[in-house]
Amino acid sequence: MHIDNQQDTLPLVPEGIAAEAGETGPVLTGGHCPHCRRDFFPRPRHCPQCLQPPEERQLSGDGVIYSYTVVRTRAPFGLPQPYAVGFIDLSQSGLRIFGLLNQSDIGRLAIGKAVCLKLEPLGLDGKGGPCRRPYFSLAEREGDDA
Ligand SMILES: [Zn+2]
Repeated sequence: MHIDNQQDTLPLVPEGIAAEAGETGPVLTGGHCPHCRRDFFPRPRHCPQCLQPPEERQLSGDGVIYSYTVVRTRAPFGLPQPYAVGFIDLSQSGLRIFGLLNQSDIGRLAIGKAVCLKLEPLGLDGKGGPCRRPYFSLAEREGDDA
């Protein structure tokens, strides 16, 4: 989908990517192949190993930063400028996924730091309103400099 004007509206919560999960906070909507015992994100139509359709599995968004970058060019999709993206190693599933990072963490981001998934406004939608997106934020831990 190409978005090049302010008339288009992005979905507030991308369906099939992330969801609220009650007390545990947001989770990633992934897949699990019971035959191969593998997790996937996003959920594929077929397991690449056995070609069976994976079942839906909610994956924890807790992980650590494997790598990241701060993008200072004009931001697409109403994202704040600058914005940060990176690869996150998810602790529970062992998957390495690509995602947005919290804009307010820029300057404190570092490889190996713990992050957790948020599902909150980040940037603007196509109408200039706040847009709710999944992103990774530095995990609050005692001793971290803020
Ligand atoms: Zn499989």
